[in-house]
Amino acid sequence: MNRIEHLGIAVANIEAANELFAKLLGKAHYKIETVESEGVKTSFFKVGESKIELLEATNPESPISKFLTKKGEGVHHIAFHVDDIEKEMDRLKNEGFVLINENYKDGADNKKVCFLHPKSTGGVLIELCQEKK
Ligand code: ZN
Repeated sequence: MNRIEHLGIAVANIEAANELFAKLLGKAHYKIETVESEGVKTSFFKVGESKIELLEATNPESPISKFLTKKGEGVHHIAFHVDDIEKEMDRLKNEGFVLINENYKDGADNKKVCFLHPKSTGGVLIELCQEKK
C-alpha cells in the first residue's frame, strides 16, 4: 500500500452531496459512474493525489442502503492504492485479515478492488485498489 487512493463517503442523495462537496472543496466532481453489480452510483472529486468518492445506493439491497440505515451518512471506507492486488490480498489473508471477496472485482474508476471486513480491521471498511492497465 503506498497511498490513500480515496475516501468513500455514503450519501443519501448524490446530487445534493455533489453540490455540498463542490462548495466544500472549491471544485466540481469530475465523473459520475454507476456500478450496477455493487448497487452504487458514485461521483469522484480530486483532492491532490487522493480522491473523494461519494456513494449513493441504487437499490434497497445495496450495501450503501444498509450502511445508511445502520449508521447514517458519513465516511464509509478508506481505499488504499496497491501495485499488485493479488499479492497484497495474499499477504493480508496470511496476516489474518478477512477478505470480503476472495477474488478481486471490477470497481468504479477503472480499478480492480477488494474489500477487507471491518471486523478484522478495527471497525474500518478497507478497500484495496489497483489501476487496470
Ligand atoms: Zn471506494
